[in-house]
Amino acid sequence: NNGRVYNFSAGPSMLPLEVMENVAKELTNYKGCGQSVMEMSHRSKEFQAIIDEADKNLRTLMNIPENYKVLFLQGGGTLQFSMVPMNLLRKSGKADYLVTGAWAKKAAAEAKKFGDIKIVASSEEAIFSYIPQVKREDFREDADYVHITFNNTIYGTHFGYIPDTGDIPLVADMSSCILSEEIDVSKFGLIYAGAQKNIAPAGVTIVIIREDLIGFAAKEIPTYLDYKVHAENGSMYNTPPCFTIYVAGEVFSHILKNGGIPPLHQLDVEKADKLYKYIDESKLYSCPVQEDSRSLMNVVFVTGDADLDKKFVAEAKAKGLVNLGGHRSIGGMRASIYNAMPMEGVETLIAFMKAFEAENV
Ligand code: PMP
Repeated sequence: NNGRVYNFSAGPSMLPLEVMENVAKELTNYKGCGQSVMEMSHRSKEFQAIIDEADKNLRTLMNIPENYKVLFLQGGGTLQFSMVPMNLLRKSGKADYLVTGAWAKKAAAEAKKFGDIKIVASSEEAIFSYIPQVKREDFREDADYVHITFNNTIYGTHFGYIPDTGDIPLVADMSSCILSEEIDVSKFGLIYAGAQKNIAPAGVTIVIIREDLIGFAAKEIPTYLDYKVHAENGSMYNTPPCFTIYVAGEVFSHILKNGGIPPLHQLDVEKADKLYKYIDESKLYSCPVQEDSRSLMNVVFVTGDADLDKKFVAEAKAKGLVNLGGHRSIGGMRASIYNAMPMEGVETLIAFMKAFEAENV
């Protein structure tokens, strides 16, 4: 083997090996231009081609309609928690949030600094172990937008449906599930995602925004935080995270070359099904997440004994299965099996789990 481990980190996480090898090949001299993308001016024609291609390929992959802009920003999902309310609270100043995990809660808390925020549904009372069902009538008629966290990285849950918000723009944090399934982008007003799970190294945040939602930020807000500024400047109002955008573009074209999202989704389903099935059948492990709400990307499980969980994580690490500890806020285990985790990684994990179960039951 090449000395690489199976990395189950929630992010930054594994990237396709083929992409990294290709990046390594072009690292010091990109396509014969005599310099690295790391060194290149963002105003060069080479970089313009890189960002244009990344934009085009993401549009193709996600079937993004013409009336949406793709923005390559910085600040992570976290900055979007603020940029969304700063830009989209444009009429009533009201927004409705679904609180389905720690990130959703943070998004809502941040929005409260800017407007009248209502939590229309929450699964906190059940430690975020399921996704609540909501209907059109649950939202305030005059809400400026509704915010959801499509995949809850820490609790391992995922929306199995797209809430019907009628004419109210739906905003979704897709940080931990983007590119893992086909999505009807037209059902959303805005989608955002940090890159460091399914797309690229950390450093770029993708925002996909319907054009009619651009241009409502208050005059006083910092220039960088206005979507309009980025939309009008092709994500190059200031120096963008060039190298990360380049790697993102390489990942997009890699996925396209391999048939786009459907085969990737199929593999994601197979990987997750295998792992959940084993956990459900096992005498040692259990998954706390309600079946219809389970994430394909983050598989959370416990033994029910915190010390045994710790032993599991340590022994797995010694076997080259790393970062299996649950989020520091909840403990237990979490296997993040994003797009770049191969089936062999999941099979190796299950084999380890079986051996650990045999020794510890
Ligand atoms: N949203 C979700 C769903 C996340 O998983 C994370 C981080 N793991 C964030 C937001 C925060 O993102 P960032 O660290 O890019 O600010």
